[in-house]
Amino acid sequence: MSFESLNLMPIILKNVRNAGYETPTPIQKATIPLVLSGKDVLGCAQTGTGKTAAFALPMIQHMAKKPVRPGQPRVIRQLILTPTRELALQIYENFVTYGKSLPVYPTVIFGGVGQQGQVDALHRGADTVIACPGRLWDLMNQGYVRLDWVETFVLDEADRMLDMGFIHDVRRIAAKLPEKHQTLLFSATMPAEVEKLAMDLLHDPESVKVDPVSSTVKKIDQCLYYVDKANKKHLLAKLLREDDVENALVFSRTKHGADRIVRELKKAGIDACAIHGDKSQGARQAALSRFKSGECKVLIATDIAARGIDIAGLSHVFNYDMPMEPEAYVHRIGRTGRAGRDGTAISFCCIDEVKQLGQVEKLIGKRLPVRESEWPMEVTTPTDPKEKEAARQLAKAARLAKAERAAVLPRKVSASGNAVMERKPRFGPGAENRNAEPAHRLAVPKGGQAIVIGRDGKVKAAQAKPAPAKSSKPAKSAAAKSAAKPAVKAADKPAIGKPVQRINRARTQNGKRG
Ligand code: AMP
Repeated sequence: MSFESLNLMPIILKNVRNAGYETPTPIQKATIPLVLSGKDVLGCAQTGTGKTAAFALPMIQHMAKKPVRPGQPRVIRQLILTPTRELALQIYENFVTYGKSLPVYPTVIFGGVGQQGQVDALHRGADTVIACPGRLWDLMNQGYVRLDWVETFVLDEADRMLDMGFIHDVRRIAAKLPEKHQTLLFSATMPAEVEKLAMDLLHDPESVKVDPVSSTVKKIDQCLYYVDKANKKHLLAKLLREDDVENALVFSRTKHGADRIVRELKKAGIDACAIHGDKSQGARQAALSRFKSGECKVLIATDIAARGIDIAGLSHVFNYDMPMEPEAYVHRIGRTGRAGRDGTAISFCCIDEVKQLGQVEKLIGKRLPVRESEWPMEVTTPTDPKEKEAARQLAKAARLAKAERAAVLPRKVSASGNAVMERKPRFGPGAENRNAEPAHRLAVPKGGQAIVIGRDGKVKAAQAKPAPAKSSKPAKSAAAKSAAKPAVKAADKPAIGKPVQRINRARTQNGKRG
């Protein structure tokens, strides 16, 4: 079957050809006619099967055939919910590619960045909104988004929405859709809750099923190295230097682990970048762009961060750490050999991961072929759980100590609800004794009075509150120290209520150097 036989418009066919697609993938063959006919669809397919084009192409055709009439406002007529920002951006890029030269105006909405750009884009007019549920719900509550005119609603990666705790937001958003609309729901797996969601959202749907999660894609060459934990870095560096590695996605179990692998590879002279939940959105996008452009050929990721990222032509996936859940193995190696391309998935297993390996092999129904390296497994006794626990406790204590140190520094809460460090001014009121407690939290020294300098620069009589009992120990000692050396010395203490004189020694009043 060809794209031509799918009843798509000539411009869309041209755009598809320009994207380099020759034949539709199975999910596209099955889904495109259903979406064009207006049916609800329940698609069981994972990323890498070409499912984005399966819903995007007919949706673009709908918009192109029923464009906004001149003088009519541009309202949201298509809504796509997806769990990650990376996936949202990818879907957006696909809409732009497939909808070139057609009247389709997509925009993207996700958290972790300022909302103003997204609000402005909505005001300019967008008919296709690709959104992560959290930020969309937020904007809906602020009155920036109305869904009263949605004709097509897509719920992408529904099982991941569930894993990431978005299902509640999804239900709340879906409740705001107009009664009559088409719904397409895609999920790699069908846990009971997703099935229930599908039953609630879909009306007389057609089911489409390709690549269930328990069968790995045939085109992927999979193998396994038994290697001690300490030698994984050497083995990885060696394998990455092999000729057939064009680009590689390396999976780490933890965020710290991902950063550590980047450092180790750098020591071995291999450029690598990492994406994980502790990195800012900007840093994640920058890493992804460097990787996609080929500037950096190794990307280290955690499962959550990598979920859904679309990197065409990925040659290798490395399971540096075996996944904790066997299904994640299938998702991970699904990044390679995408849409019919060949790929290689290499797993490292140390003695502590033998159990996880067993679970993976049970799920995929075969033993992974074992390869030998110059670093064979030598440690054959699993780490004593007590030792592991002790190490965990040590790490926890270190984290707590760090948090405690941070707690004695001033904190405030950002708009997104995260605690952020409060900057202390370098000059003027509040600048003295930058490491001390903030003025408003100063405890009153015995026989003295704490001084509070207001934002207006005026010194006010302290309405000193004793430090709260719980955190009193570190806070009190810090406060007591700063109180012993008051922020403003008694001798040059200005009269209460009199503005503090700021002397700028570097410049005179009109800005010229004195
Ligand atoms: P998706 O499952 O939508 O994330 O798509 C996975 C990858 O397959 C993306 O890089 C698409 O560009 C690519 N792709 C989608 N459809 C086709 C097709 N018919 N032929 C070749 N590649 C495709």
